[in-house]
Amino acid sequence: MNIRKLIREELQFIFNETINKPIKSEVKLSDLYVESDNILDAYFKAKNNLGPSSRSTDKPLAVTKLLDDSLILMDGHHRIVDKIKYLDTDNIDDILNLKFGAIITPENYEDLEDFPDGEYYIPLFDWIYDMKEQVLIEDINVPIKENKSKDITCKNCDWEWDIEIDDKNPHLCHKCGFDNKKDEFDYKELNNWKAENNH
Ligand SMILES: [Zn+2]
Repeated sequence: MNIRKLIREELQFIFNETINKPIKSEVKLSDLYVESDNILDAYFKAKNNLGPSSRSTDKPLAVTKLLDDSLILMDGHHRIVDKIKYLDTDNIDDILNLKFGAIITPENYEDLEDFPDGEYYIPLFDWIYDMKEQVLIEDINVPIKENKSKDITCKNCDWEWDIEIDDKNPHLCHKCGFDNKKDEFDYKELNNWKAENNH
């Protein structure tokens, strides 16, 4: 009998029981990471009225919380897409500010890269912006008001710009380097952007 192994397993069990206890809470859509294939699949099913129509279920989302506080959506993609589909709004921020009940299970993984799933996770925020035209205007028919004003005004220097679908950092001010989503300067990304765009 391997005593060490037994002790280790027992300690791990106690650790899991106390640390990895699921909690009931609320999550905001803008805070979630999603596996892009799953959310795309849910989106196409919602678009074609296939698959589970879960807009009426109040079942909480299943969310995994990593040590760096990243929140990964494990289950509930259809609920989210259906809610977006039937939400009566003309503002993309209303969608991102939607809150869902969730069962949040902490996991002892450092961050997304450390998470062993091997799948490709993106912020739901980015997914919605990437899919903005298809998801919100053409397919799901959420009427998005086309503002004449620019999408973003830099909180630091008042520079204004539109969100570009292929921009990796759509909230980064290319004038002063302030990231208007993270609320801090990101000179590393500004320099990357300059290098990539020959500035
Ligand atoms: Zn700026």
